[in-house]
Amino acid sequence: MQIERAISGVTTLGPGNRLAIWVNGCYRHCKGCVSKRLQRFEPRNEQNVLTYFDNFDLSTVDGITISGGEPFEQAGDLLFLVKYFKERGIDDILIYSGYTIEELYKKNDENIRQILTEIAVLIDGPYIEEQNNDMGNLKGSGNQRIIFINPAFKNLYDEYYSDARKMQEFQFGNYIVAVGIPTKKYIAEFITD
Ligand code: SF4
Repeated sequence: MQIERAISGVTTLGPGNRLAIWVNGCYRHCKGCVSKRLQRFEPRNEQNVLTYFDNFDLSTVDGITISGGEPFEQAGDLLFLVKYFKERGIDDILIYSGYTIEELYKKNDENIRQILTEIAVLIDGPYIEEQNNDMGNLKGSGNQRIIFINPAFKNLYDEYYSDARKMQEFQFGNYIVAVGIPTKKYIAEFITD
């Protein structure tokens, strides 16, 4: 799977202590996308999920957030990844997609269908700059929906969503990664790529 990076200790992309994963490749090209560099597919980032994630300590991880890029462009690998974490006892798996759930079903892909039964939450739809109202701790723009595939997670996420947006910054290799759902002010002041 093409994985740009994975960072643990993330608290700004879902409730609890999370391992956040960003994958490469997205065809959507939303205006104002804050992950422009991840729109490119990167064959050199091809990772073996088993060896890559065996390096992470999952004992303190409450949930997984998978973003990008567009995770569903690598649907077979994505399903493998979801199962990898579920087999290790992590059920709170949140995926961000630039596709709506209807568009995902229309792809008629068995991997996608299965992913949409296994995960806890899907946040769907493209980023629409004009609908970024700086509200909510999980969605970049108002058109996006928080869809509970597993309704058991609804209360936990509702409480988290009602908080103001916040950001974390991590050193990753030789650059700083801003993690979270940025406000328009934060995007204007700090996000360069
Ligand atoms: S779907 Fe997400 S990663 Fe893809 S262009 Fe839109 S905002 Fe960027």
